Amino acid sequence: MSKVDPADWIRPEIRALAAYHVPDSAGLIKLDAMENPYPWPRELVSDWQARLSSAAINRYPDAQAAGLKARLRAAMGVPPGAELLLGNGSDEIIQMLMLAIGGAGRTLLTPEPGFAMFRIIATLTGTDYCGVPLCAGNFALDTDAMLAALREQRPALVIIANPNNPTGNRFEERALRAVIEAAPGLVVLDEAYYPFCDGDCLGWLAGYDNLLVMRTVSKLGLAGLRLGVLAGSATWLREIGKTRLPYNINTLTQLSAEFALEHADAFARQTRAIRSERERVAGALGRVPGLRAFPSETNFILFRAPSGQAGRVQAGLREAGVLIKNFDGSHRALADCLRVTVGTAAENDAFLAALRRLLDAPMAAF
Ligand SMILES: *Cc1c(COP(=O)(O)O)cnc(C)c1O
Repeated sequence: MSKVDPADWIRPEIRALAAYHVPDSAGLIKLDAMENPYPWPRELVSDWQARLSSAAINRYPDAQAAGLKARLRAAMGVPPGAELLLGNGSDEIIQMLMLAIGGAGRTLLTPEPGFAMFRIIATLTGTDYCGVPLCAGNFALDTDAMLAALREQRPALVIIANPNNPTGNRFEERALRAVIEAAPGLVVLDEAYYPFCDGDCLGWLAGYDNLLVMRTVSKLGLAGLRLGVLAGSATWLREIGKTRLPYNINTLTQLSAEFALEHADAFARQTRAIRSERERVAGALGRVPGLRAFPSETNFILFRAPSGQAGRVQAGLREAGVLIKNFDGSHRALADCLRVTVGTAAENDAFLAALRRLLDAPMAAF
């Protein structure tokens, strides 16, 4: 019998990819993935379970998720003229965008450093990828460089995360508008971190026929549900929606997200707590000698360790039971940079204490 070698058949661009790696976090304080650290209030949990017991799990989900969409519109303040397309996380929406608009001979343009999935999904879909460096030092959008790249590359799709991950900052309105106005194709503003900043771009939808706004409930506190939202004109969404697999939003997610959005006040309280902890942690990081914390309008903080120390800091924190993400080596602009998600006050204290111990320790020990 002949042996069939997967290497002969798996497409070369897939073989060249590394699988998306999620580190084992068992037993650790998990500050690596921008999750909301707070569980639901106990009384909400029992009401939610009662709601789930009504689920017709033998049936396919509501394919249009009409009830959930209505809740999302109200909770997110989606303007009346805009339609919604839902994804299994905004990751799936990024995939739908590139299936519909990307592909061979099409370019995705996005600022860098940025969200890793943009490049990964471009590769998966055979879309050319063009990363435009953010301004050195403050990670601002480099308007001139973006406009030049738009002229040279004529990208079918531009995606800009605003606020940006992993840098944490929000871009200037003037720079964003200049990009939207100069783009030959579609521009998607990814507002994954909208709960943690003031000001958003949903209101811009009416003014631009090449703009869509993407959101997710993940960072808000529902990462386990996998639910992302794309808002904008029916014309774009009807076409992009053709790449959506039927029933992509499962019944439990629909019921759970609807329930959660009915109790938006509980999430608003958690968001306020996270924002206030963010300011406290940022202040504390700023006082650790040798560290530089970058301003954040998200639920995480990017900070720069002393030169050559990022790996040691991450490993030392892990040893102390705290998991954060190391970006050193991932992009030129992120040398020595680490990203910590804002946790509960106790988690943040544990992180800060371990960090101070590590940076006070004599370097010779490592
Ligand atoms: C986390 C994140 C997402 C992905 O969100 P999901 O809805 O959980 O898939 C998208 N964009 C940015 C910028 C993110 O940081």
